[in-house]
Amino acid sequence: MSHPVKASEFLKDPDKAKWHDETLWFVRDKRDNSSKGIPEWEKLRDTASQIKDNVLANLDKYLLAFEEKAKANHIHVHWAKDAEEHNQIVLRILQKHKCKAIVKSKSILTEECHLNPFLEKHGVDVVDTDLGERIVQLLHQPPSHIVLPAIHLKKGEISDLFHEKLQTEKGNEDPEYLTHAARTHLREKFLAAKVAITGVNFAVAETGEFVVCTNEGNADMGVHLADVHIACMGIEKIIPRRKDLGVFLRLLARSATGQPITNYNSHFRSPSPGKELHVVLVDNGRTKQLAREKFKNSLKCIRCGACMNTCPIYRRSGGYSYGSVVPGPIGSILSPGLDIKKHSTLPFASTLCGSCSDVCPVKINIHEQLYEWRQEIAKSQGLNIKKLSMQIANGVFSVPFAYQMSGALLRGALKILPNSIAYSGINAWGKQRELPEVPQETFKNWYKKNKA
Ligand code: SF4
Repeated sequence: MSHPVKASEFLKDPDKAKWHDETLWFVRDKRDNSSKGIPEWEKLRDTASQIKDNVLANLDKYLLAFEEKAKANHIHVHWAKDAEEHNQIVLRILQKHKCKAIVKSKSILTEECHLNPFLEKHGVDVVDTDLGERIVQLLHQPPSHIVLPAIHLKKGEISDLFHEKLQTEKGNEDPEYLTHAARTHLREKFLAAKVAITGVNFAVAETGEFVVCTNEGNADMGVHLADVHIACMGIEKIIPRRKDLGVFLRLLARSATGQPITNYNSHFRSPSPGKELHVVLVDNGRTKQLAREKFKNSLKCIRCGACMNTCPIYRRSGGYSYGSVVPGPIGSILSPGLDIKKHSTLPFASTLCGSCSDVCPVKINIHEQLYEWRQEIAKSQGLNIKKLSMQIANGVFSVPFAYQMSGALLRGALKILPNSIAYSGINAWGKQRELPEVPQETFKNWYKKNKA
C-alpha cells in the first residue's frame, strides 16, 4: 500500500490524528526551547556535521581501527553484510549458550533486520524492555516512531492492553500505576535472561568502546544481569574520538525530547570478568547508500527523531503510513535506497518546507534529498498520470491559442459540471478542498478593458 492510502487509513479517526499532531508538536517545542538554552547550538550542529563528513570519507579506516581496539579489549567483533547474516550471527551466539530467552533494549537496527520474528521462529523468546517497545510488542505492532515507539497510542489503549496482558485494574489509566505494572513484569524477564541484546548509539574508533543511550536504564539492567551482551550496530555509528561524544550527546537528547542529556549514557569497553561481549557490525545496504553521492549524507543520521516531530506530514499521517522501519523524512530518503519500487511514494510525502533540515542536529539536507529522490523515481518509472498531465499542460501552455481555448472551455464546463464529476476520484485535489469560483472573464480581457 502506498503512503497516501495508509495515511488516509490513519486519518479516518480525525480526533486521534489531531491529538497525534499536537503531541508531536509539543515534543518539537521542547526541542526548540532546549536548543535555545545553549548559545553554541549552531556551532555544535556544524561540528557534528563535519565529524560525520570525516567519518563517511574514512569509514573503512575507522571501522578497522574500532575492530582492532575492540578485539584488544576482549570484545568479539563480527561483520554482517546484510540482515540475514546479522540474524544468523546472533542466533549462533544464542545457540552456543543454549539460550532460549533474551532481553533486548531499543535497537532500530534489529527492527530493520527483523530479528525478533527470526529468533522467535527458532524458538527464542524475545522481550523488548523499553516501555514503549514492550507496549507495541504486546500488541504485535512495530514501533511507529524511532524514539517514541508507542506515540500513536493513547493512555486508555495502553490501560486496556495492560489489563488484558498484565492483569492490571480495568480502566486504571494512571501512568504511574501502569509503569509500575510494566516494571514488575519486566523485572522477571531481566532476571531470567542469560543474554541481553542492545543497539549502539556511538562506537569510538580511537578506543574500541561504544555508548548506549536510554532513558529507562533498561539496557544497563539487561546487560548487567546477563552473562552475554550482544551489541548490534550499523556501520555508520562510528565516531573517531571519545571527545567527539561531547558534541553528539549534547545534540542527541535535546533534539530527541528536549532533555539536556539522556538519563543513561552507558559506556561499554570490555566484558566484565567471566562474561562475554559481542559487537555485530552491519552493512545491510549502507555501503550502497555511501556510494550514492547525492544521498550519502543521510548516513550521518543519529536517529534523534526530530525530523519526524516537526514534519507536518508525519504528524498528520502517523508512522505506519510510511511502511518502513524508519518513518518520517529521514525514512523517506533512506528507504528508496533499499527498494525504490516499494517505497516510491515516500519522497512525495513531504511539503518540502525544509523544517526537517532545519532541526536536524547533523545538518542533513533532508528536503533537498527528498526532491532528488523524486527525480530518480520519475526517471525510473515509465509514463504515469502525472507525467502525462504535465506533457499535456506543456503542450497547452506553449501554444497561446490552445491555452485561450482550453481556458474558455474549462470556465464554461466548471459552471455546469455537477459536483459528482468535479470532485470525483480523478480530482484528488478536490477531496478536501473547494474549487475556486470561476471568474467571468480572463485576466487578459479584463486588462485590455482596464488598461487605460
Ligand atoms: S535525519 Fe537528522 S533529525 Fe532526522 S532522525 Fe536523523 S539526525 Fe535526527
